[in-house]
Amino acid sequence: MGPNLPKFIDALKKALGPDEVITAREDLLCYSYDATPDLPRVVPVAVVTPSATAEVQEVVRLAGRYGVPVYPRGAGTNLSGGSIPTVPGLVLSTLKMNRILEVDPDNLLAVVQPGVVIDRLNETVAPHGLTYPPDPGTVATATIGGSVAECSGGLRGLKYGVTRDYVMGLEVVLADGRVARFGGRTVKNVTAYDLVRLFTGSEGTLGIITEATVRLIPAPAARKTLLAAFSTLTGAGDAVRLIVRSRVVPATLEIMDRVTIETVESYARAGLPVGAEAVLLIEVDGVPEAVEREAETVAGIVRRCGGELRTAADDHEREQLWAARRAALPALARVSPTTILEDATVPRSRLTDMLLALHGIAEEYDLTIGTFGHAGDGNLHPTILTDARDQEEMERVRLAVGAIFRAALSLGGTLTGEHGIGLAKKRFLPLEMGEEGVWVVRAIKRALDPRDLLNPGKLIPAAPAAGADGEVDPG
Ligand SMILES: Cc1cc2nc3c(=O)[nH]c(=O)nc-3n(C[C@H](O)[C@H](O)[C@H](O)COP(=O)(O)OP(=O)(O)OC[C@H]3O[C@@H](n4cnc5c(N)ncnc54)[C@H](O)[C@@H]3O)c2cc1C
Repeated sequence: MGPNLPKFIDALKKALGPDEVITAREDLLCYSYDATPDLPRVVPVAVVTPSATAEVQEVVRLAGRYGVPVYPRGAGTNLSGGSIPTVPGLVLSTLKMNRILEVDPDNLLAVVQPGVVIDRLNETVAPHGLTYPPDPGTVATATIGGSVAECSGGLRGLKYGVTRDYVMGLEVVLADGRVARFGGRTVKNVTAYDLVRLFTGSEGTLGIITEATVRLIPAPAARKTLLAAFSTLTGAGDAVRLIVRSRVVPATLEIMDRVTIETVESYARAGLPVGAEAVLLIEVDGVPEAVEREAETVAGIVRRCGGELRTAADDHEREQLWAARRAALPALARVSPTTILEDATVPRSRLTDMLLALHGIAEEYDLTIGTFGHAGDGNLHPTILTDARDQEEMERVRLAVGAIFRAALSLGGTLTGEHGIGLAKKRFLPLEMGEEGVWVVRAIKRALDPRDLLNPGKLIPAAPAAGADGEVDPG
């Protein structure tokens, strides 16, 4: 027998107040979506909007009592199906847990609730001369909780690292409703296992993050943005390799290929060089003298690799170029009804090989693939422009996605650099981790959430004996 949903919903309303429990079907529908295309749509039975840890505890306890799965959700911008229900259950939205609890300039940290939007944290710490560097393309909407749960990367990963490098402490509501705290306010902490790291990137499958202590750094005093256009992919790839080897560490080193340049330019009119095979968008930052020196080094490398260079003359031009880069996915998404965006990542030295492999895969499967991404991290976002209604083409897309993952892994890379496994990639997990690695993942999940109540069906493929889902995709 299934859970007694009317009683469950009544209990939620009693615990949180009726306004914090959404049940109207037309309001629930959008929670069967996040930013990931082409996934089955399951409408939740309700959405709750708690504003304190104690309320999250109460919700999780009630969900446990009634046997209802819980799907944590921040802004729903993830690209791996992480926040949508797989079977009807309860969506726990953190958007009302949006308080910045503390900014501590003496210890270079902030303490925040999970629903705080990344940009708002940065606006709040800016007057202290500080910054929180992790910056997924969605900084204006994505939450700290969602980005910690995904261990999001972003445009500044090359120099500043990713979310896990900035999480010092976490408060987590566990699957049975207890609250645990890991890490804290100290720079150093080697107490027991590194559970801050375990929960960072756990994609809502191990616990619900209700508070995060995050590291801040001094904001750079100066920066310079350069745009380099190349007539070959190889030229762009070589420039990335040589810049990394030159011991200059740019804050950002982004790439867009021909398909992306043309699409973004027709959308954003930022003056991108249409006709180029690839552009690199490079920003160096730091103390002003070093920035000048590093920009010169980068410019020299670009020219040696056959690139044509433009330097942003002022803040307006700089903003325009970065807006163009951030528009890459929305611009590509306008071209066709369905955009399948992947996240394959390779060691930086293999970037050219991966770019060429993607080119070959687009030809082999007769698909349009626009590629952009964080070249300095070896993290590419090949984006297949397609139409989910075209069954025959979708079959080719499925095969191409398998080929992309295999290409990345054969170059020493990974299935996902920053978007997470979620629903979209779980069947590929054994390809990267082997059955032994997947066994460890399953064992951790079973230990912390034995009833599989938190974000079920995500990240972990079913055990091989359970059926096709656990098999390595042949495609
Ligand atoms: C146009 C575009 C550009 C993007 N660019 C980047 C990029 O450059 N780099 C990058 O890394 N990502 C990028 N993303 C992906 C996405 O924006 C990030 O993963 C983002 O950090 C997700 O935050 P969110 O608040 O939307 O989380 P959601 O999408 O709401 O949730 C993400 C995951 O976290 C879980 N979760 C949410 N809150 C909690 C919580 N409090 N406790 C436990 N689990 C929780 C959810 O269950 C889900 O599994 C991009 C997405 C889009 C659409």
